[in-house]
Amino acid sequence: MVDMLPLCCARADVAGSLEPYMKVTLRNPDRTELIDGPMSVAAVLDRLDVDPETVLVISGGALVTKDHVLPADAEVEVRPVISGGAGPARCHACERTAVIEIRRHHAAWCAEHFVDHIRGQVRTAIDRLAMVSYDERILVAVSGGKDSLALWDVLLDMGYRVDGLYVGLGIGTYSSRSEQRVRDFADRRQVRLHTVDLADEYGYDVPAASALRRRSSCGVCGLSKRYAFNRIAVEQGYDVMATGHNLDDEAATLLGNVLRWQTPMLARQSPCLPARDGMSRKIKPLYRLGERETAAYCVIKGVDYVVEECPMVAGNTVLRYKDALNDLERHSPGTKAAFLFGYLERARDRHFAADEHDATEVVACGRCGQPTGLRDPGRAHADPLCAFCRTRDRVLAVIEQPGGVSVGAPP
Ligand code: AMP
Ligand code: ZN
Ligand code: ZN
Repeated sequence: MVDMLPLCCARADVAGSLEPYMKVTLRNPDRTELIDGPMSVAAVLDRLDVDPETVLVISGGALVTKDHVLPADAEVEVRPVISGGAGPARCHACERTAVIEIRRHHAAWCAEHFVDHIRGQVRTAIDRLAMVSYDERILVAVSGGKDSLALWDVLLDMGYRVDGLYVGLGIGTYSSRSEQRVRDFADRRQVRLHTVDLADEYGYDVPAASALRRRSSCGVCGLSKRYAFNRIAVEQGYDVMATGHNLDDEAATLLGNVLRWQTPMLARQSPCLPARDGMSRKIKPLYRLGERETAAYCVIKGVDYVVEECPMVAGNTVLRYKDALNDLERHSPGTKAAFLFGYLERARDRHFAADEHDATEVVACGRCGQPTGLRDPGRAHADPLCAFCRTRDRVLAVIEQPGGVSVGAPP
C-alpha cells in the first residue's frame, strides 16, 4: 500500500513549483492512490501489491502493458478481471468486507446480511410449501449438530412457537457432548426441551443394536429416532415436527433413491409431508441451505454445536453420495441445488406421483399404539406390531443372550 497523500494531484517540489502526481484508481473497493511518477506499469502494480495477472491497466482510455512507462501526471485505472481475485470480497448487500462467499449464489455476505440470507431461504421454504403458520406449535428434533441447532435458532428468531426434542442414543462421549450442546442452547434461549433416552425408555441403545444381523446400526438409529420424534410430537400435541435436514442431505438421499430407482421413496421425498393416520406433519425448513451455510450461521450467531461426526457413521452410503455430489459441485457450482429443486418442482409430481399408491392400510401397533402400515391388508392381523416394536424385540433378544452385548458400552 502506498503512503496516504492528500487528495490533490500536485505536490510542491523544492523550487516551489507544482508537480503532478500520478492518479491510480483501483476497484473492489473503489479507491484512489497517488503515486510519484513517472513509473512503469509493472512498478506501479508492484507498489500497489497487485498481481498483474488479475487486472487490466487502462491509461488515457487505452490498455497498457507492463513495460509501458506512465507519465507523472497519468490517470490510470487498474481494473480487476478475476472475480474474487482482487482484494477481499464485498458483501452483496452493503459493500462491507464479506465473511463468506457462496459460489452457488455468485454472492458474498457480511455477517449481518448472511444471517438475513439464511432467514430469507427459510422464509421461502416455509412459504412455498405452506409448512407452518405462526399460531401452530413446532417440535424441532435437535441432535446438537449445526443443522438442527441453526434451525431452532432461526425459527425462534423468526418468531415461531418452537420447542426442542433430543433423543439420547447412547453413543459414548459423542452422545453426552451432543446432549450438553442442546441443553446449553435451551438454557441460553430459555426454551423448552424434551429429552428421550433410548436406554432408559426402551432398554437398548444404538451401539447395542450393532450386534443385530441383517440390519445396520444406522438403520436402527434412524428407525428409533423417527419413532421417538413422532411419538413425542403426537403425544404432546405439537402441530408439526421439524428436522434439520439440509440441501446436502436431501440431494444425497435423492441421488441414492435415483441410483436404485426406489420409486415409492422418490414419490414421498418432500420437505413437507402432511399429517396422516397418527403421523405428525413433517417439515425440513433448511432444505434450501447447504451444510456450509448452516455451519457458518452457527459460527456467526455464536451457537455452539458438536463438530465431531457420529463415530458409528463411517462408511455410510449417504456420505459417499455426498462426496460424489460435492465433487460435481466443485466443478460446477449449483449442481446440487439444480438436482434437488428441479426434482421437487418439476419431476416428482409429473413422473412419480403414481408410485405413491399407498395401498397399505394404517392401523395402531398392537403393543405401543403408534401407527403402522399393514403390508397385507386383506389378511386378518391379530396384533400387528410396528417396525419399531419388532426391531426392539430383536435387539433386546440379542442383549439378553448369555454373553450378549451390554447397554451403555462404548460404541
Ligand atoms: P441425521 O439423520 O443424523 O442426519 O439427522 C437428521 C436430523 O434428525 C437432524 O437435523 C435433527 O433434526 C434430527 N436428529 C438427528 N439426531 C437426533 C437426536 N439424537 N435427537 C434429536 N434429533 C436428532
Ligand atoms: Zn452486508
Ligand atoms: Zn409399536
